[in-house]
Amino acid sequence: MKFESKTVHVGDRKKAGNYIPVTVPIYTAASYAYDSMEQLDRVFGREEAGPSYARYDNPTVSALEELVNELEGGHATFACSSGMMALHIAVMAALVDRPKRIVAGNVLYGATTLMLSTIFSALGMETEYVDMCDAAAVEAAIKETKPGAVVMETITNPLLRVAPLDKIAEIARAANAPLIVDNTFATPMLLRPLELGASMVVHSATKFLAGHGDSLGGVIVSDAANFETLMTLRRTLGPNLGPFEAYLTMRGIKTLALRMEKQCANACKLASWLATHPRVGRVHFPGNPAHPDAANVARLLPKGYFGSMVAIELKDATREQVFAFMDRLKMIVRATSLGDVHSMILHPAMSSHRDLAPKHRARMGIGDNLVRISTGIEAIEDILADLDHALGG
Ligand SMILES: *Cc1c(COP(=O)(O)O)cnc(C)c1O
Repeated sequence: MKFESKTVHVGDRKKAGNYIPVTVPIYTAASYAYDSMEQLDRVFGREEAGPSYARYDNPTVSALEELVNELEGGHATFACSSGMMALHIAVMAALVDRPKRIVAGNVLYGATTLMLSTIFSALGMETEYVDMCDAAAVEAAIKETKPGAVVMETITNPLLRVAPLDKIAEIARAANAPLIVDNTFATPMLLRPLELGASMVVHSATKFLAGHGDSLGGVIVSDAANFETLMTLRRTLGPNLGPFEAYLTMRGIKTLALRMEKQCANACKLASWLATHPRVGRVHFPGNPAHPDAANVARLLPKGYFGSMVAIELKDATREQVFAFMDRLKMIVRATSLGDVHSMILHPAMSSHRDLAPKHRARMGIGDNLVRISTGIEAIEDILADLDHALGG
């Protein structure tokens, strides 16, 4: 089956008694009984498939896991309560029986950097940060650090850089360090890191997968080598996604291909328009032929699909002027998050990267004049008109 067919079929229509529900029901039960103690014993021993207790599994969540696993091409998938929980559990799983050191991209989602630099380092797991777009630097860092995990993003937030994932996967594999890839911005429609040699793929399912701004969630899609440890963490900690969120996420994924099609096309038009606007300085967009990672983009992303994120620097603008521009928007939503059906705009220095020291932010290239736009599925004319008015065009 092709990608868009899988999104509407995998995980659904499982026989329940003598009928087949056309969509997976929301199972709210915390535990499950069987006809005999003997059968319950087999289920607990995992000799027979079936749910037993909600911290171990839940049929609604299992359906979502089956679907995402198929879309990413994994061995098995674990749905978590948030994207950050998924990242936390994935790194923990990698480090359980490996050196307690991490090599990570020097530009990552703000909370990911914060998690590594505060929580993990306080627990004795130090991170070496490196420019993931520089394969030679990554190779040197891995050689020197001998890490137990490598952490990167497919399309980085908010500057939309595209690292040579295929090459990094090869380097990480040779060094026996599991590569954990946050694929939130690309989605499995644009890129499937496991096919390129990554060990675990993580998503904030809150974003494109769910897609409607109404549910928090995360997933870890794993290879066979790391899945048992992930299951142990799930069974001992309970970082699981709830059945209601699993239902919403699964419902969202049914239109992922349609939404991405439209959002990617809108983003291309938006980026070209912004590039000609007199108040806009630099436009960060992977579809730009002059993008610093154009070769990686051409090799890794499908032709004509560059994601739906566009970041811009307003020319000579102070924080106050940027805020005034954002306040003048009438349709585009001023809020954190991305990947939703509605267009959104965010000021990274104030939101996603707020908790980082200003010096750290400056080093990452995140100035006060930078704004990030998540392009939605609206008519492109309305998106451009809203921005044109707010920019004072
Ligand atoms: C939002 C986001 C996260 C965190 O996910 P939550 O669901 O908010 O916990 C991690 N990585 C990226 C790239 C994100 O955009």
